[in-house]
Amino acid sequence: MAVVAVVGGGAGAWAHVDHQERERAEQAALVRVDDAVGSRDADVALWGASDATVGRAVTATTRAEAGAALAALAEQARATLAASEGKVADDATRQALAAVLAEADAAAATPGPSAATARRVAATLGAAHATVAQAQVEWQQAQDAAAARAARPTTPSGGGTGSSGGTATGTPPSCRTTYDGPPFYTSPATDGGDGSNGKLPPSALTAVSWDVDPRGTPYYLRNDAAAALERLNGAFRARFGHDLDLDLTYRDYATQVAMREALGTIAAVPGTSSHGTGLAMDVPELPCEYGWGTPQRDWLVANGPSYGWVVPSWARQNGSNPEYWHFEYRG
Ligand SMILES: [Zn+2]
Repeated sequence: MAVVAVVGGGAGAWAHVDHQERERAEQAALVRVDDAVGSRDADVALWGASDATVGRAVTATTRAEAGAALAALAEQARATLAASEGKVADDATRQALAAVLAEADAAAATPGPSAATARRVAATLGAAHATVAQAQVEWQQAQDAAAARAARPTTPSGGGTGSSGGTATGTPPSCRTTYDGPPFYTSPATDGGDGSNGKLPPSALTAVSWDVDPRGTPYYLRNDAAAALERLNGAFRARFGHDLDLDLTYRDYATQVAMREALGTIAAVPGTSSHGTGLAMDVPELPCEYGWGTPQRDWLVANGPSYGWVVPSWARQNGSNPEYWHFEYRG
């Protein structure tokens, strides 16, 4: 199963991607608030009361920066608030966000917030925003699960209508992928590779034994990671009666460059991806098979560490970039 768009995936599939984008942007904005506030604190301490004039000027500049950063944070939260209307189980989460937004707007207004206010409002806003974003993800998952249940007794090939929003009245797809971007495939070893990220030579990689990708490319991992995954797959097969499904393992530098170009900040900066070191695997982006709370994923999370395969903190459901499909080998 490659990361290809399932026909009928619709805009619902993008909601997940949008969520990640928003979350990354929000993290960046939070950092800017802290940077602005932090530089102001440092500058004020540096100049001290001995040069009150300069101190006041520095404070005014950085207050404006903190205000602008807070306004950017509020803008992202406002987008989530709008997009989540009717798409959370409990609207109280949205009302709470609306209330914090009003406070943030007031704080961000000229001449800008004090350091303490900027930090407090940014933290409160970030928490309220994350709560709504998470509620929206859970709502979408419930919709997808219901659609998958509805489709199961009928045709397994599904037959999406192309409509979005999850309130499908037609025949929903049996299990809609949460990935809706252009297709990318796992990579072969890099002939003459120097061993750096995305340039691993054949001698550094081993293909897993049970599967190849839709184009026939073996799923390569660093030798020790592949050996460990063979053992993990044996246990997985004993539990579920079939091999572990894979989507992407090793990814070369050129592919990472293409992904970054196509997907923006969702994709790692070329040269930094754990897929480029042959130490990461993605299972298919199919919420009903490997999504949060599925028996397969729960089993992998519980048993993977015995084989050296773990979920990095950023990929967890409450992490900075939730990816239920991503696992890494830590030995
Ligand atoms: Zn991954």
